[in-house]
Amino acid sequence: MIKRRIKQIPAVSRAATGLVPFWEKWLQGGTDLLFPPSCPVCGTSPLPAGHAICHRCLQEVSFIQSPLCLSCGREMGDSAGSDHLCGPCLRKPPPYSSAQGLAHYQEPVSSLLHRLKYQGDTSVLSALREIIGGWDSLSLQEQDRIIPVPLHVSRLRQRGFNQSLVLAKLIFPNQRDLIQIDTLARIRQTIPQTGLDGIARRKNLHQAFIVRFPERVRGRKIVLVDDVFTTGTTVAECSRMLLRAGAAEVRVLTLARVRE
Ligand SMILES: [Zn+2]
Ligand SMILES: [Zn+2]
Repeated sequence: MIKRRIKQIPAVSRAATGLVPFWEKWLQGGTDLLFPPSCPVCGTSPLPAGHAICHRCLQEVSFIQSPLCLSCGREMGDSAGSDHLCGPCLRKPPPYSSAQGLAHYQEPVSSLLHRLKYQGDTSVLSALREIIGGWDSLSLQEQDRIIPVPLHVSRLRQRGFNQSLVLAKLIFPNQRDLIQIDTLARIRQTIPQTGLDGIARRKNLHQAFIVRFPERVRGRKIVLVDDVFTTGTTVAECSRMLLRAGAAEVRVLTLARVRE
């Protein structure tokens, strides 16, 4: 009996890393990374040397641009001028201090993410790396910590990896030692947030996350990484838990953001 329990531990903790060995190997590949023979979006072949997505598809990426809300990161539409707080954030500030997204959740980013998450299609990773490349997201200090939004262990086993962890490694290729994978955990399986209104979304995520090791976040600035920012309910709930555990501040980074 004891033997069985001991045997199970490595399997669970490997799952908690969010990566099966293949992904780990791929992400550590660095310069010897193999580039795909054709553009994973449109199929154009061959790709120019050193590129993982064709120029035309890269041009299609709709990057989020200023002026933005300083707090929730939404684009301020037609309003000119510099970044400032939006109305909803002025009325009710979110728990995180800022949310920053790279691109709008639309083609080609939406397809690439969808293929990664739901089809386990690794051929899109090089293209995502190229899209992310050069993102001047946040400057981190050694004492800061990067925390990917966790999946519930059953989802993690089913998918084989946590896409937020994969993205965190792509965004911070030189600061992977700051990434913490088991500090924040999703302890309750939740139904997909799509189609739920604001109150239902918050209810769905109520007590879904816990901070397993408060001492690791106490007094620290946390960068919370997720793949897509839709209404911000998930990252807000994670931020609340991290702040309750003593984090000094939570800044949110997402690869994509759904247009409002
Ligand atoms: Zn293309
Ligand atoms: Zn705002």
